[in-house]
Amino acid sequence: MQIDVDSESGFCFGVVNAIRKAEDVLSSDNQLFCLGDIVHNSAEVNRLQKRGLQTITHAELLKIKDTQVLFRAHGEPPTTYEKAKKNRLSIIDASCPVVLRLQERIRRGYEEVKKIGGQIVIFGKQGHAEVNGLVGQTDGTAIVINSAIDIEKIDYSRPVFIYAQTTKSTDEYELVVSLIRDKMQAISTEKPVVLEVHNTICKQVSSKDKKLRSFASRRDVIIFVSGRKSSNGKVLFEICKKANSASYFISDETELKADWFLGVNTVGVCGATSTPRWLMEQVAKEIRSK
Ligand code: SF4
Repeated sequence: MQIDVDSESGFCFGVVNAIRKAEDVLSSDNQLFCLGDIVHNSAEVNRLQKRGLQTITHAELLKIKDTQVLFRAHGEPPTTYEKAKKNRLSIIDASCPVVLRLQERIRRGYEEVKKIGGQIVIFGKQGHAEVNGLVGQTDGTAIVINSAIDIEKIDYSRPVFIYAQTTKSTDEYELVVSLIRDKMQAISTEKPVVLEVHNTICKQVSSKDKKLRSFASRRDVIIFVSGRKSSNGKVLFEICKKANSASYFISDETELKADWFLGVNTVGVCGATSTPRWLMEQVAKEIRSK
């Protein structure tokens, strides 16, 4: 049985950057607080935890003072910076530069849209850390839509500036935008209502679709490794599943089942942008031993 680990899978540069920053601090200090899981992968979180990285919640952030705290790649809303400042916390800011640029675009869009009585719409998962950071750029006024069903939240008589969470699927975003466009055209009278569409899906994610589809379709079985909380993991797994129905989602090698490999010649191991390479290698090793 031939087993290949996808060379394109694994951490994106935003996550690599956040982990490097945490490891830099932990090489001299034996404790560092991290606001939320540094990456949506419990195996990697546990590895860093053993080195002294301690994950805290937003509620716990209010209770710590005069220490260092790391903001992960997802980014934070302005209110989190204010709270940290109030408690004299020194921020190790590992917000991904792509997310920071998106926050800036939304901030500027919000200033513009206010002048014309419009709305900021974010295509993303309600409550996701990155989305909270984006909504925070609009004084909490942005409308979050997660799927086509949610588009009813929009007032189609007013201008719309729409942005996507960086890890959303390009196909889904295009579909949602076309539904919004149709609704607007249906109600518009003489003067069309403004719809400004911002293409903000991270290239690290969107370029993965095609490569992953090809990787998955060329193997008998696909083992997709990801933390269950990773939204990027969910999107990429769906791509595998469409390309190859014999695709299985696991979070580590203990979830492998021997009968998935009966009579199989080729197996591909791949994962999300939050999946560590060492974990995919570990899974491949375990399959070889079956
Ligand atoms: S997926 Fe893209 S935007 Fe998100 S952390 Fe990675 S590099 Fe940054």
